Amino acid sequence: TEEIQQILSTLGIKDMNPSYGTGQEYGSVQGGTQKAIHSPIDGQYLATVQYATREEYDKVIGAAQKAFVEWRQVPAPKRGEIVRQIGNKLREYKEPLGKLVTLEMGKIYQEGLGEVQEMIDICDFAVGQSRQLYGKTIVSERPEHQMLEKYQPLGIIGIISAFNFPVAVWSWNAMLAAICGDVCVWKPSEKTPLCAIACQHIAAQVLKENNLPEGIFSFINGDAELGKWMAEDKRVPLVSATGSTRMGKSVAQTVAGRLGKSLLELGGNNAIIMTANANIEMAMRATLFGAVGTCGQRCTTTRRLIIHDSIYDNVKDRLVKAYGGLSIGNPLKADTLVGPLIDQEAVQGFTNALESVQKEGGKLLTGGDVLSLNGLEGGNYVQPAIVEAENSYQMVQEETFAPILYLIKYSGDVMNAIDIQNDVKQGLSSAIFSDNVQETETFLSFRGSDCGIANVNIGTSGAEIGGAFGGEKETGGGRESGSDSWKVYMRRQTNTINYSQELPLAQGIKFDV
Ligand code: NAD
Repeated sequence: TEEIQQILSTLGIKDMNPSYGTGQEYGSVQGGTQKAIHSPIDGQYLATVQYATREEYDKVIGAAQKAFVEWRQVPAPKRGEIVRQIGNKLREYKEPLGKLVTLEMGKIYQEGLGEVQEMIDICDFAVGQSRQLYGKTIVSERPEHQMLEKYQPLGIIGIISAFNFPVAVWSWNAMLAAICGDVCVWKPSEKTPLCAIACQHIAAQVLKENNLPEGIFSFINGDAELGKWMAEDKRVPLVSATGSTRMGKSVAQTVAGRLGKSLLELGGNNAIIMTANANIEMAMRATLFGAVGTCGQRCTTTRRLIIHDSIYDNVKDRLVKAYGGLSIGNPLKADTLVGPLIDQEAVQGFTNALESVQKEGGKLLTGGDVLSLNGLEGGNYVQPAIVEAENSYQMVQEETFAPILYLIKYSGDVMNAIDIQNDVKQGLSSAIFSDNVQETETFLSFRGSDCGIANVNIGTSGAEIGGAFGGEKETGGGRESGSDSWKVYMRRQTNTINYSQELPLAQGIKFDV
């Protein structure tokens, strides 16, 4: 508790409540449910936050609507300047923020810092992008006519985020939306509201320093119910939702019911293919980081390893040995590689999945224990597991959000491995390890990986922000972050301009009165 107080005071947060911003615009949160937050590291109490009531939610949306009218008038490069200032503050507070991510979510401190760095990176990216909201000029089929394509701000962007990236996902959406002239209302995961309060506080400070309305970046605490309000709300033209496929299906249907737009970043079931031509040393390192990093709680976590039969036993033995040497424990300690799971429900999910997969015929090779660590008795620690399995097993088809790695053997040509890799409902991330160009190019071809991310000689997790991030099939089809992902936060408009004195119709249609 002392530690958290210190972090919050370094960040200038005096009060968890009101938690919408730093100004007066919204007033205090009064009515909603109270939620106590405990650290997954040792179960220690961190703070209590309050959910917003429906009335308070409406107030926030109202303020955001008002802010939008002002914000969209600010020239895009000037909006970029605000994002630049947010990036600078994030640089200044990188360490306390990284530590807060670790305390509240449980990922190791290095990864906590990495997540804050990702926010800084996307700010830099968005600043550059703010001068590049390029449209098109299009030649017209009619004389003395021209056509243009322009991008206009959309309005309020609702951001629903997951617990496992408690700060980065917000910034991916919010910073791009901001330079596009949109305003954001963020509903963070109910498991990680403190990280969200901290980010919100930083964004609100920058707005205040620049005399801009608070409603440009808003934040509101609540659980799935609040997410549903957002999905139903016609005042929110785009809902960007990150989380489980179950949540995504619900949000997608509700938003589609009012013909709104949704951007979905949902579950993955990511695989690495190791062919007979793999650099095994490199592949092993990538697999370890991918499978046990963030304690198996990344959407891009390596869940399946599809190994050629000629190297299978070798890889299996080496992996089991490497798992034996994993340092599991307090994620704030420098030598820890695996921290805790988010909560006891996740621990239960881990043990249930292992039990079920063994009933289906899976063979547990190592790990699987629930750990009680000295001095961290209230924490949610498990021993990462490796299971020999078939791709068709029901448990292998599901995303269990915990460190379970399934080893799957293939024989013959690389297409056999690719078919296995694609034979799941999800389509987020994939990778191949091979020094054979025929294998790697096949993997990247039209008959190769069907995922949004397909890597060669690099693991499934740890994407850079410069590329578009997201996946196909039940992963939801959305793309965020780099490349041209900004376009989803804008509405596209086609303009036809006639500078002649005639009024010719397209397709040569005659309509003379
Ligand atoms: P979750 O689905 O339980 O919750 C995510 C968010 O959705 C929370 O804010 C929650 O309150 C809200 N929510 C839940 N049900 C809702 C509903 N019916 N309507 C509106 N909002 C609702 O997910 P989680 O446990 O926090 O996160 C883990 C999941 O997120 C995994 O499946 C992981 O793969 C996925 N994830 C995906 C990406 C990606 O970019 N593809 C990134 C991070 C996490």
